[in-house]
Amino acid sequence: MRFSDRVERLGTETAFAVAARAAAHAATGARVYPFHLGDLNFKTPGNIVRAADKAIAEGKTGYCPNGGIAPLREALAADVNSRRGTSYKAENVSIQPGGKPVIGKFLAALMNPGDEVLCPTPGFPIYESQINFQGGKVVPYGFVSGSDAFRINLEALEKSITPATRLMIVNDFQNPTGAACSPEERKRLAELAVKHDLMVLLDEAYFELHYDGNAGSIVSEPGMAERSVLLYTFSKKYAMTGWRLGAAIGPKEIIDVITRMNVNEESCTAHFVQFAGVEALTGDHTEQRAMVEELRRRRDAALEILNSTPGISCFTPTASFYLYPDVTGLMEAKGFGGDYDAFAEDVLVKTGLSFCTRMHFGTPLPGETRRHIRLAFSGIGIDDIREGLGKLKEYAAS
Ligand code: PLP
Repeated sequence: MRFSDRVERLGTETAFAVAARAAAHAATGARVYPFHLGDLNFKTPGNIVRAADKAIAEGKTGYCPNGGIAPLREALAADVNSRRGTSYKAENVSIQPGGKPVIGKFLAALMNPGDEVLCPTPGFPIYESQINFQGGKVVPYGFVSGSDAFRINLEALEKSITPATRLMIVNDFQNPTGAACSPEERKRLAELAVKHDLMVLLDEAYFELHYDGNAGSIVSEPGMAERSVLLYTFSKKYAMTGWRLGAAIGPKEIIDVITRMNVNEESCTAHFVQFAGVEALTGDHTEQRAMVEELRRRRDAALEILNSTPGISCFTPTASFYLYPDVTGLMEAKGFGGDYDAFAEDVLVKTGLSFCTRMHFGTPLPGETRRHIRLAFSGIGIDDIREGLGKLKEYAAS
């Protein structure tokens, strides 16, 4: 088979491979504690499910407008405006089958081959994959970790900007670290984008999953609404990962191009699913709020055990449903040095704990010396969190 050259550059999301390894281990009869995948073990709220049922029963099962149905585009613009102080209208919204398609479509709309794109590492691996696939150049930027923070290394980021730098990807409320940008960071990033005339993909997939009231957005900064495309998704906020519902939100000219891509690729997002989205945004939020509270309890339970485990220390994430503990001491004590795969396999076999490592989140930067793993607490209940991390603690102490 002769594949195109660009297929050679297409990456993947290796977290799915970890899921497959965990399933194989469970098939041997072993107990597995699933901390690997950013999926939720909460049911989609009942009012949202009922809205989809009703839409199907009413025959909302055909093609619909390529950019999404008007009530959903309107409701989404209103929802985003109320939380971010923007003034989007329905024409600024293009409904997508999930948040993920926004990444490739943003790049396809704005990046030419050879253009440089600032991209976080560690970060969601699809950024790198899509930039490479579409012939751009990844310019990675990193983070500075401290006991109470994970900050973007803004000095290094600015130094890496060249005349070829056209785009910047920012994932506020970050996967995998769980860090949210501080208000000062948002301001600095916005100033950099304006100064260097960069278009920004602002991935706020975890915007509503925050635990300390800090829910600002870079798009609210001066000059940013004109140069940002927001990645919006219903996946994490409403436990709707498998429904595939999201949106690109931004300047009308770009949104029109993205909607033209919808025409070429999927025609439209499933019609009845969009009615579920309208109910999600405008209906009762009791179950959604209860989910965020339960996630907070899980986070706190996990942190307590992790931070009393020898060789591990974990920053308290203020957003998302991920913990990104520093396991350098534990890996060294167990003789694994930098061999993440051997470490993860040893922990899986000896404790049943399944998780992703730093290596699943983009190419490490030179000089990165600390070692991290990512624990997702979205798909595992609080009792299993305590039991599983208790086993990790015994493993560390042995
Ligand atoms: N962005 C980030 C940072 C994510 O972690 C994810 C999913 O894990 C997505 C975007 C895409 O999610 P979805 O396509 O389900 O909306």
